[in-house]
Amino acid sequence: MKQVFFLFSILLLTIPNTHAQTVVQRDPAISQMVAEISEDSLRAHIDGLVSFGTRHTLSATTGPQGIGAARRWTLGKFQQYARQSGGRMTATIDTWTLQPDGRRIDKPVEMGNVMATLKGTDPADTRVFLVSGHIDSRVTDVMNRESKAPGANDDGSGTAAVIELARVMSKYSFPATIVFVAVSGEEQGLLGAEHLAQRALDEKWNLEALLNNDIMGSNNSHDTRIINNTVVRVFSEGLSGFETDKRAANVRQYGLENDGKSRTLARYVKEVGERYVDNLEVRLIYRNDRYLRGGDHTPFVNRDFAAVRITEMNENFEHQHQDLRTEKGVEYGDYAKFMDFEYLHKNTALNLANLANLAKAPGQPQNVTMEARNLTNATSLFWQAPKSGKVKGYYVLMRETHWPFWQKKFFTDKLGLTLPYSKDNYFFAVQAVSEDGNESLPVLPRPGMR
Ligand SMILES: [Zn+2]
Repeated sequence: MKQVFFLFSILLLTIPNTHAQTVVQRDPAISQMVAEISEDSLRAHIDGLVSFGTRHTLSATTGPQGIGAARRWTLGKFQQYARQSGGRMTATIDTWTLQPDGRRIDKPVEMGNVMATLKGTDPADTRVFLVSGHIDSRVTDVMNRESKAPGANDDGSGTAAVIELARVMSKYSFPATIVFVAVSGEEQGLLGAEHLAQRALDEKWNLEALLNNDIMGSNNSHDTRIINNTVVRVFSEGLSGFETDKRAANVRQYGLENDGKSRTLARYVKEVGERYVDNLEVRLIYRNDRYLRGGDHTPFVNRDFAAVRITEMNENFEHQHQDLRTEKGVEYGDYAKFMDFEYLHKNTALNLANLANLAKAPGQPQNVTMEARNLTNATSLFWQAPKSGKVKGYYVLMRETHWPFWQKKFFTDKLGLTLPYSKDNYFFAVQAVSEDGNESLPVLPRPGMR
């Protein structure tokens, strides 16, 4: 007995206090929406996308096959959902023409991002949340616009998720605006995302976050033979690629190399995703994208928007960017039959929970400041109310400087809080929270005086 107790004590001592219990408190409205995501529906979206032969950016823009037909089909889906939105959702194809660029565009080509906008219901709330997948597909040769390129997983999975999110969320209303986009031209150089990110900048969208979904419906690797549909990766950059040179002094002085906007968003995605989706772990990958590879979130990161990539844990390269063929008994090609729709369902739910929680939440607290006048071992933070939304109160988040995500949440209904923890030893952030428990994105404080 003594020995058992001794062992137990050791256990207690060795479990870091950072593994404290977390309270799972779900907003029933969001749980309801999550429950409406349908595996059958996702499968039908993928089958629809695959039916156009190829969705290569340089393929036919007129006629029943090719990228043009796929875009019009996706627009049709969005228009169908718009009809159930009570006039709040609108759908369109944002088109433009590209000239040959000496790289992956070798002829003048009509481009198109297929977009559905679910307008927010609060006129004071200008926030926009964006969710994307790319509609184009490819085979082995990136310039091959003729061969069949099903692109079921890359990126039928992300596009189907976007379509499914539009289907479910169009029936609900949110204070903030949500934009669902099937982006063009990813494989030819992130062209549609470049266009959209620049448009958001030019038109001064109050874009608070982009969730980019690319390759997230298959659960197995071809070589390491790992099969697992309980983990998904979220890639985020620690710094923003935007004017890093000018910000370096601040980043160094405050020690913020791990707290850029996109990293902060990634931590949020993990917490909220795991709150609503059972049997799914969100693995935060602390880099902008996979090694030497890219995705549609990057043009947004480069323009100082918070943007992350959501992607499966183990890629299967026999089923990605491959000519359809069988070689030495291996069937190559990006077919729907190689996908795991339960996994795609969970990853779609991860998006929904986050978009809904963000769009229902109040805006971010304003002018979040860390009191820096006096040397003290306590930390005082103060802030102002957000520009929009009804606030129940605020969470002050805290974590060890070496810890990957927020560890403690202190609630207050005031516009400031003093904690007996030193700002030298912890990071802090503040988020606004609604009556239903929906949190805004956290804001890292700047030093100042009350
Ligand atoms: Zn892709």
